[in-house]
Amino acid sequence: MLYTSTRDRSVKVSSAQAIAQGISADGGLFVPESIPQISMEEIVRLASADYVTRAKEILSLYLTDFTDEELDYCVNGAYASGRFSSEKVAPLAEIEPNVHLLELWKGPTCAFKDMALQLLPYLMTVSAKKTADGKTIVILVATSGDTGKAALEGFKDVKDTKILVFYPEDGVSPMQKLQMMTQEGDNVGVCAIRGNFDDAQSGVKRIFSDRAIAEKLAAHNMMFSSANSINWGRLVPQIVYYISAYCDMIADGSITPGAPVNVAVPTGNFGNILAAYYARKMGLPINKLICASNANNVLTDFLTTGVYDRNRTFHATISPSMDILISSNLERLLYDMTDGDDRAVAGYMEQLNTVGRYTVVPEVFAKISALFCAGCCDDAQTKQTIHQVFESDEYLCDTHTAVAVKVYKDYCARTGDQTDTIIASTANPFKFSAAVLEAVGGGLAAGFSEFDVVRQLSVVTGEQIPAPLADLEQRSVRFTDVCDKENMAQAVFQMLGIEG
Ligand SMILES: *Cc1c(COP(=O)(O)O)cnc(C)c1O
Repeated sequence: MLYTSTRDRSVKVSSAQAIAQGISADGGLFVPESIPQISMEEIVRLASADYVTRAKEILSLYLTDFTDEELDYCVNGAYASGRFSSEKVAPLAEIEPNVHLLELWKGPTCAFKDMALQLLPYLMTVSAKKTADGKTIVILVATSGDTGKAALEGFKDVKDTKILVFYPEDGVSPMQKLQMMTQEGDNVGVCAIRGNFDDAQSGVKRIFSDRAIAEKLAAHNMMFSSANSINWGRLVPQIVYYISAYCDMIADGSITPGAPVNVAVPTGNFGNILAAYYARKMGLPINKLICASNANNVLTDFLTTGVYDRNRTFHATISPSMDILISSNLERLLYDMTDGDDRAVAGYMEQLNTVGRYTVVPEVFAKISALFCAGCCDDAQTKQTIHQVFESDEYLCDTHTAVAVKVYKDYCARTGDQTDTIIASTANPFKFSAAVLEAVGGGLAAGFSEFDVVRQLSVVTGEQIPAPLADLEQRSVRFTDVCDKENMAQAVFQMLGIEG
């Protein structure tokens, strides 16, 4: 299986190259030339297998240049090493009849990014061995909060890698910020920027495509790669858990093999829901893909009108990991929905870059709207949903998951659809304690520390504080740098210890 670029179909690289490089030189994203298929017999067979086996099987369809031993090494290192607090890795919780929350936050940083970022360092080092001839890989990350920490935790002290993370100074939760500022490891760097996530992401993309910077790194035997979901190595592990969830539903009798399911996803950069789309394309019987947004509802508008317009107010919400107006992975969907029309995709992205807006042609929009439903909700509705789910289902969900629950419930009310639905549950509620505590009615007056709030949330709800978050209180702060968004390249040189 070879990979090509969404902006230039003449590009052909192996999966190892796609992963080591991160993004294509033309600025496009790597996509597989075709989507492999998985039969229902195969899915039924995997229903009695564990997560590691399922992951290996599915990854082997995409990473055809990895040997059996290499894949074993990767999936065991990520998912069988005890770093996930659930034996099932990504368990399901049926909170109401037909409503299955897929808990993707059992990893070391308590958010769904761990599902991919525990595996990516393994994929990356194996890929680098195959393709990067001894260069140190410098992972550059822009984060809306969760990716940064998960990438730091995945790559810390991984040989022949360095990792540098940029986050929006005022755009992450206190817990997310603390997680990054206290990061351990000898190969890590963290810097806040004065700007929002889109500024951070655009800055990182600019650095990636800057020839002069690449040459400077090469002179020091280094090369950049990405741990953002623009990297194929981030997306492919996410396909696994949708198929795994379906396997679990067969195994526990929730569905019969072949029965359709819906998938609802709280969406920011469009990575998680795109993985569900690919799972569907592989043959998983997904009926509707329900895309849930917070007040930054650029995707709701796009999926309901065909017009993508980022010219709008940016809202800082209580679901900060979804505070995004430029959803990078939509580019991969556009590539697929245009049947691989690289010129058209490059054109849309050029318009997005210059005027901040593009409109897809009617045939493409028709295809998209046949499959995707979309909705959004504001902070008040998010909190109300957390409250309701806690009261009636005795289940405590985080601010991001709650957005998906709300949009899913609106969808059901609108359509009457009662199909079994998998809702991606993307973070542990203690990561966003203040908002969750307020939602369940146990608010604290201002002036309390983040950890007071965390403890109060535990008292009010009877839920246990996850150990990786409780631990942070004892850690010392290592990283306090802040830079202007124009000076990110300079910050990179500084963190790498090379002349600017
Ligand atoms: C990253 C993140 C999202 C958004 O996922 P995308 O793949 O960017 O769409 C949602 N919820 C949480 C908690 C996240 O960390």
